[in-house]
Parts: sequence; C-alpha cells; structure tokens
Amino acid sequence: MDAWNIGTQLDELRAQGLWRELRPLDEVDGVIVRAGGREWINFSSNDYLGLAGSSEICTALEEGTAKYGGGSGASRLVCGTHRVHVELEEALADFKGTEAALSFSSGFAVALGTIPALVGVGDTIILDKLCHACLVDAARLSGATIRVFPHNHLEKLERLLKMAKGRVLVVTESIFSMDGDAALLREIVELKDKHGAWLLLDEAHAVGVLGPQGRGLAAELDVAQRVDLHMGTMSKALGLSGGYLAASRQVIDLLVNRARSFIYSTAPPIHQAYALGVVVKLVRSAQGDILRKALHDNAAQTKSLLSVAGVEFPTTPAAILPVILGDERLAMQASDRLREAGFLIPCIRYPTVARGTARLRITVSASHTACQIESLGQILQSALQS
Ligand SMILES: *Cc1c(COP(=O)(O)O)cnc(C)c1O
Repeated sequence: MDAWNIGTQLDELRAQGLWRELRPLDEVDGVIVRAGGREWINFSSNDYLGLAGSSEICTALEEGTAKYGGGSGASRLVCGTHRVHVELEEALADFKGTEAALSFSSGFAVALGTIPALVGVGDTIILDKLCHACLVDAARLSGATIRVFPHNHLEKLERLLKMAKGRVLVVTESIFSMDGDAALLREIVELKDKHGAWLLLDEAHAVGVLGPQGRGLAAELDVAQRVDLHMGTMSKALGLSGGYLAASRQVIDLLVNRARSFIYSTAPPIHQAYALGVVVKLVRSAQGDILRKALHDNAAQTKSLLSVAGVEFPTTPAAILPVILGDERLAMQASDRLREAGFLIPCIRYPTVARGTARLRITVSASHTACQIESLGQILQSALQS
C-alpha cells in the first residue's frame, strides 16, 4: 500500500472537478498567447496596465542587465545592499507616502515576513474572510490568535476588536482578488483607530490601478496616512515581480531585523530592482494616467456587455470581473468552452474560493482592444444563456 495515498488524492481531485494542471505556452505577446499553433486572447492576467511586455520594461531590464548582470549573490544583510535596492525603496516610500519601505522577492514573501515579525503568541490578528492565502498563512505562522470576520462585515469586526487581546492587527485587501470588490476601507480605518488596532492593507490589485498616480485605494479614499502597514506586489500592474511593505521607519527597521523571508532569502536581481524603479516612475506619470484610463474604459465596456447577459458586478472600478457559476464542474466546462472559442479565462474553484462558488474570473487590461472585448461579450452572452 502507498502510505502517502498520492494516487488516491489525485483521483479524488479529478472526481471533484478540482484537478489543476500547468499548461505550457509557447509565446506571450501582450494579451495574445500562443501554444501548439493556436492562439487565445488572454483575459486572465493581472498585468493590468499591459506593462509586462512593454518596450519600457524590456529596455529597462536590458539597461539594468548590462550594468548589473544577473543574480544578486546573497541576502542583503550578508554582502551589503546595492544602492539600486535602496533607491527603489525610497521611490516606493515616496509613492506610498510613508517614511520608508522594504522590498521582498514576492508579495507572498511580504506577508510571510511582515506579519510574524510584528505579532505573535498573545496577540490577535483579525482578517476579512476573503483575504488572500498568503495573509492567512502568515497569520498562522505568527502564532497570534486568529479571528475572521465575514467579508466586509463591520459589526462583526467591531465585536472582534472589542474582545481582542494583546497587539491587535486588522488585515484586509483593497480590491479582493477573486471578487473584484473593495474593502469598506474608510469604515475599517475608523474602527481600527477607535479600538487602537493597526491595519495591514494589501493593495495587490489596486496599486497602479486606483487612486491619484495609481497609489492605491487608501490614497483614493484619502485615508493613506491612517493605514499602518501598506503591502503590495510589483508582479501585477507594475508588470515585473517582487513585493513591498511601506510603513514608518521604525517598522521597516524592525522588519530588516525580524522578517525571515527578507533576511534568509537572496536579494532579487539588481537589474529587476532597477527596472522596477523605472516602472514606479512610469506608473506615476501622465502616461500611467493614460493607461489607467484605458484600463477603466475597458472594464466599463466589459461590464456593460455582460450586464446584458444578466451578470452583476461590484460597482468598484476594478479590473477583476468574476462571473459566479457555482458548481465546480459547470464552471470548468464553461472555461473549457471559452478556451475552445479562443479566450483564456480561468475557472476559479475551491480551495481558492469557497466550495460551490466556482467562477470565471475575467481580468481586463489596458491593452485589450474594443474589438477583443466585444467578441468576448458575444461569446459569454451565448455561453451563459446556453
Ligand atoms: C497576488 C497576490 C499576492 C501575492 O503577490 P505575489 O507578488 O504574486 O507573490 C498577495 N496578495 C494578494 C491579494 C494577491 O492577489
């Protein structure tokens, strides 16, 4: 007998419609992807501004590689930190309006490093039910008591705040990654201040997308100064890779000493940090505003085409448009049919979302053309009516 039951586990996943596999692509060319001689229009990427394949990023990476080469060789505490990393962090702090910032190899690493560095046994973490896996894992890793409030449920959040012990950290996202709606951020900020808690806001899907210069939801709602810990990724709208935490100087100093995913991990390549510096400038510029307008226009067009088919979306001007179908196998079939028709739209299932809430997750980018969006609308209208 196979004591590990790997085969049985795989069979169960297949039987439940929860099987996942990696699909190799031959080429990614903006929103077009190609494999095995076929091509698809990609409505599944988080490259919201279409920067990932842009000439600006390619040029910056080439310049950076020519100057700084490949890997960085070691953790930043070991060999000394390259000035380019420090300059990127100064740019991120300026962007987010905080005293300081620290960059990590990914958004996931930010959560895993930051939360356990700041809270532990005897403290309390209060999470929105729909928080991303990295926030949940980081909370577990910290050893703090974990409390969860139903999505955006302010009364429950306040009840948990009243009962919480030790240091109290509220954790939420600005735009929820699988639902595309926004946190009730103003109200959450009021509550956490009233009860003397701190707030970690994960702006993964809002940075570059919302707010003046793409600073995010907290900036858009004018509460950025009251958010204690600003977390974000540079892998989505910023088109590259890596994550950041922006906060007070003291918090950043503590993270340099305590965040294990920062301390015990090799610094991201310097040419990447260099290119990210270029991207941060671009995102904040007038060109960034043009890209954001294109993105929001595309999202609005997609929403209005799909509302004809009876699909309802959150009113947030986000680029994540979930079409909730419920049953896992049904949603898989819909996603497969769309792939046959030339559209890459993933089916999101348990455990990423709750069982029975499987969905197609459409993400729009500034690079989609009106024509591509129109044909998506037509296909979806017929797919959803049949
Ligand atoms: C993608 C994502 C992350 C992780 O960021 P990576 O840079 O991809 O590791 C964290 N939080 C949320 C909400 C995300 O959607």
